[in-house]
Amino acid sequence: MGEDATEEDRLNVLPHLHLHLEPERRKRAQLGLRNAARHRNSAAAFFASHDVRNRTRLPVTRDDLGAFIRAIHAEQRREQVDYAELRLSPRRFLLDGLPLEEFLHTAHAAMQPLEGPTIRGILLVNRDSDEEFLEQCTARLGDLPTTFVGVDLAGDESRHSDITAFRGLFTAARALGLGVTVHAGEFGDLDGIWRALDELGAQRLGHALAAARSPALLERLRDDEVLIEVSLSSNLALGAVTSVALHPVRVFLDAGIPVSFNTDIPMESRSTLPGELALAAELLGLTTEEVVAVQREAARFVFRTSAC
Ligand SMILES: [Zn+2]
Repeated sequence: MGEDATEEDRLNVLPHLHLHLEPERRKRAQLGLRNAARHRNSAAAFFASHDVRNRTRLPVTRDDLGAFIRAIHAEQRREQVDYAELRLSPRRFLLDGLPLEEFLHTAHAAMQPLEGPTIRGILLVNRDSDEEFLEQCTARLGDLPTTFVGVDLAGDESRHSDITAFRGLFTAARALGLGVTVHAGEFGDLDGIWRALDELGAQRLGHALAAARSPALLERLRDDEVLIEVSLSSNLALGAVTSVALHPVRVFLDAGIPVSFNTDIPMESRSTLPGELALAAELLGLTTEEVVAVQREAARFVFRTSAC
């Protein structure tokens, strides 16, 4: 949303705020390879397959990056999305020889002309990133292409709970007016969510399932208007919840916390945004229209700046 967007403009937008590029899955699909085993109920297997040191991973190129972004645009158009924020992690592409600068430029060139829906990028850094990569990203934040509107921290919280190393990058991002979202409380504990808020200045949280256990944290999220990016199918697919019925989204809504519904990893979980909205309606005992209204409200939390 631009700064001048009216409430009416916002309510006409169907946003999709948490969606990953999934290059490994898309590369396999492009090559007509059978999908590797799904990682149902196994976060460890999921994170292992996304480890850039995994030797079985397929190499990806600059052309793939552009093609994957355009494929996602076509998918989001079919799903009636008006505006999508796409998590883009440079690491895999860097390892395959694409410099950070070219990664950013290629992603920008792919996203910039796309309309119906607009696609904007969130620069994703993984919790297992090394110091050199973080320094490189931090140094580049000041002149990110205008299609990049925020930063995100993702990866295995249980193995990387200390986020001290990321404070510099997130402080710089906030100072530059970029949006800040953090994957926290998906598999990790409450403490990780407090840290995402207090140490990284998160304005939105990915998953935040653990928050449901703490009235003090729920109160903080409501008072500070921190949006929780909810992904029902993804949480089920990776075993963060054992059944959709046990997902705490109702607790979030009852506490007055803004939420959005998202596919997160649609290639992995085989979900679509309309599917997520229907699932949410069933879980919450709401009509699809009522859930769509919740989703449209989340347009207040997009990271798009008026300059874009
Ligand atoms: Zn995610």
